[in-house]
Amino acid sequence: MRQIRRGIPETHPLSSSRPIDALIEARWVIPVEPRGRTLEHAAVAVHEGRILDVLPIAQARARYQPRDRYECAHHAVLPGFVNAHTHAAMTLLRGLADDLPLMTWLQHHIWPAERKWMSPSFVRDGTELAIAEMLRGGTTCFNDMYFFPDVVARAAAEHGIRAVVGMIVVDFPTPWAETDAEYFSKGLAVHDAYRDDPLVSTAFAPHAPYSVSDTTLTKVRQLADQLDVPIHMHVHESAEEVAASSAHAGRRPLSRLADLGLITPSLLAVHATQLEPLEIEQLARHGATVVHCPESNLKLASGHCPVAALVAAGVNLALGTDGAASNNDLDMLSEMRTAAFLAKSVARDPAALGAAQALEMATLGGARALGLGDEIGALTPGRWADVIAIDLSAARTQPVFDPVSQIVYAASSEQVSDVWVAGRHLIAGGRPLRLDVHEICGRAAAWQARVAPDFARS
Ligand SMILES: [Zn+2]
Repeated sequence: MRQIRRGIPETHPLSSSRPIDALIEARWVIPVEPRGRTLEHAAVAVHEGRILDVLPIAQARARYQPRDRYECAHHAVLPGFVNAHTHAAMTLLRGLADDLPLMTWLQHHIWPAERKWMSPSFVRDGTELAIAEMLRGGTTCFNDMYFFPDVVARAAAEHGIRAVVGMIVVDFPTPWAETDAEYFSKGLAVHDAYRDDPLVSTAFAPHAPYSVSDTTLTKVRQLADQLDVPIHMHVHESAEEVAASSAHAGRRPLSRLADLGLITPSLLAVHATQLEPLEIEQLARHGATVVHCPESNLKLASGHCPVAALVAAGVNLALGTDGAASNNDLDMLSEMRTAAFLAKSVARDPAALGAAQALEMATLGGARALGLGDEIGALTPGRWADVIAIDLSAARTQPVFDPVSQIVYAASSEQVSDVWVAGRHLIAGGRPLRLDVHEICGRAAAWQARVAPDFARS
């Protein structure tokens, strides 16, 4: 990618051309909306953080006088990825305990480590490590569920990445909050602090049906309605979760959520590996989103989300990595590929989830789920300029018959060369412009040295 600043003579310095902030010229532009469309030799005009125009390069040069012009000669330019389910700070627990079933992993390893170590500095250092990894891999927005969401919000705003920060609620005390009332008051304070922020917004994040009571869920629904924010929740992650609810409460968790009025367009039901046909129909009828996390589900052997059936029913699908402790990376390119392959395998149908559909899940599907469908997730005029460039000149993505196929089925995150969020250039030629990755990794290593002795003894 070549960057040319104003001052160097433009090819067509027409006096009638309009001054703008930036013009991103690319071999291919994949706007995602409409689905399946790829523009060749096209440009994205950016001004004041938003997309002004998407048009052929020759026309763009005649019409606009950019302050910065980027020539992405071998690249596909597309909307940044929306990682619709993260626990960003858990990057610090990456590789701490692998190869275990969900509940053993949580109860005997992850929760004890969190109880002991979780603090604002743990969350800050883990979130910054996650942001470094996510931006480098083309993720421009993440939907997070973790403790100390005030710290997550601050880190996102500081580093210029878009984030939806979870107002977490869970029925047990943690270092973030002791009681229900405290979870709500602290979460709402974060919501108020970022009410008008261009990059950071909030969602309610009740952890899971098994860890949040009816009374609390009712309050979550009422407040989410009032504030018009999404509800982000683990739902039907494993067969054991559904069986335990059936045994103790006499019904499946989704039926309980339905009675509590939680199945609405605001709901992001994360994982959803256990769904019956009537439940799929119910999610579709009420406009809820399923956030598919294929690699986490595979690693924890939680089961398979019935993607083909959800697509057929018209349920909005988004894609998430989950935390780095159960994935173990935050790589949306590999997540897309796994989602497509797994959907095909589960449905025994190679057409179950095509490349363009997988790309839509990883971008616009997540944006819609978060109530940001008109703001991000596609390259159309008026949306925020959350844009990435992927260099397809590498051997592993040659030759290019179809850039969408190369991106979903062959590209690696190292090929993400440039990232802009709200028009701000954050990664240039693969190098972060605002992050000190060396320093962030140093802090992560220091945490490993602190946490490791606990596990050597156990
Ligand atoms: Zn999760």
